[in-house]
Amino acid sequence: MSDNILVTRSSMPEFEEYVEEIKPLWESHWLTNMGVKHQELQRELERYLGVEHIDLLTNGHMALELTLQALNLQGEVITTPFTFASTTHAIVRNGLEPVFCDINPDDFTMDVDKLEALITDRTCAIVPVHVYGNVCNVDAIDRIAKKYGLKVIYDAAHTFGEIYKGKGIGSFGDVSCFSFHATKVFNTIEGGAVCFRDEAFGRELYRLKNFGIRGPEEVDGIGANAKMNEFCAAMGICNLRHIDKELNKREKVVAQYRRRLENIEGIQLSPVQKDVESNYAYFPAVFEEKEFGASRNEVSDVLAENGIGARKYFYPLTNTFSCFHGKYNVDLTPISLHISKRILTLPLYSDLSLEDVDRICDIILSCRK
Ligand SMILES: *Cc1c(COP(=O)(O)O)cnc(C)c1O
Repeated sequence: MSDNILVTRSSMPEFEEYVEEIKPLWESHWLTNMGVKHQELQRELERYLGVEHIDLLTNGHMALELTLQALNLQGEVITTPFTFASTTHAIVRNGLEPVFCDINPDDFTMDVDKLEALITDRTCAIVPVHVYGNVCNVDAIDRIAKKYGLKVIYDAAHTFGEIYKGKGIGSFGDVSCFSFHATKVFNTIEGGAVCFRDEAFGRELYRLKNFGIRGPEEVDGIGANAKMNEFCAAMGICNLRHIDKELNKREKVVAQYRRRLENIEGIQLSPVQKDVESNYAYFPAVFEEKEFGASRNEVSDVLAENGIGARKYFYPLTNTFSCFHGKYNVDLTPISLHISKRILTLPLYSDLSLEDVDRICDIILSCRK
């Protein structure tokens, strides 16, 4: 039997390439606080992502949390529960109230037809999630936000490098937040970034990621510490050199999964979206037990018995987390609930061999009773 397959595997440059990149740090002794690597990665990412401004942070969560703080919001924020803990936590940790909008059954992003009915006079912002790299209905969200004067902050953690209608995905909404965590398409070990146009917002965010310090003798914001350090930035500079090659390899893996699992009764795959240049971040599959002949949990167990780590991602929904003490009514987001009980994201990384994809698919298809 071949080695175990994990759900993902971090992209890394050659050891020598990274060592070469961090050598100057031994000469300068400048390890963090917006040093040369931080500045260089920032410039390169602005270009690669096709955005006006970007700031780099310790991780994607702080990107979301400090963005909401920098916008100085109050009241209710409309979001979806079909996401990673981070999205909802960032809202609640800012003293804001999440209001959960349901998702589309096909691409798992916010159902914009249900959005307007959730807006009240306390609503201040919308935080939609580009789940698995599926781009939200940004045109409708933009129109509704403008009509009601709401801020739009995209959780773009899954959409690194994607292009929608010829524009970098980070250029939509007021702000887009990326994650560069080790498990993401592009990583800086841990890291995150905020893309924006408004320079005043940028100055506020910059201050908040550095304790709210305005000057040597003035601290006028209750900030955090969320500065990306030089070693993480150096990792990003190296990984960015190879990103196009990585994306090409991912594309081939995804194509093989599609060939094997498309048109199988009871398996629903993520759609190929029109006008989107995908980054092939995740490969989710929804299993309808009746039609397929096995439940998601059964498929997951059989894969695990074979040393293959698929992930129930996103399950459970954030609006059912025990830390929220039953505060939210999950019956208000029935599609999210339905999908979260049936979805499994399959192993996907650039070096996953097509033979391994075949083996994974063989095992999945053998689950049918
Ligand atoms: C990874 C992720 C985050 C958080 O990013 P970190 O860098 O891990 O803090 C937020 N939202 C979504 C949807 C994510 O997948």
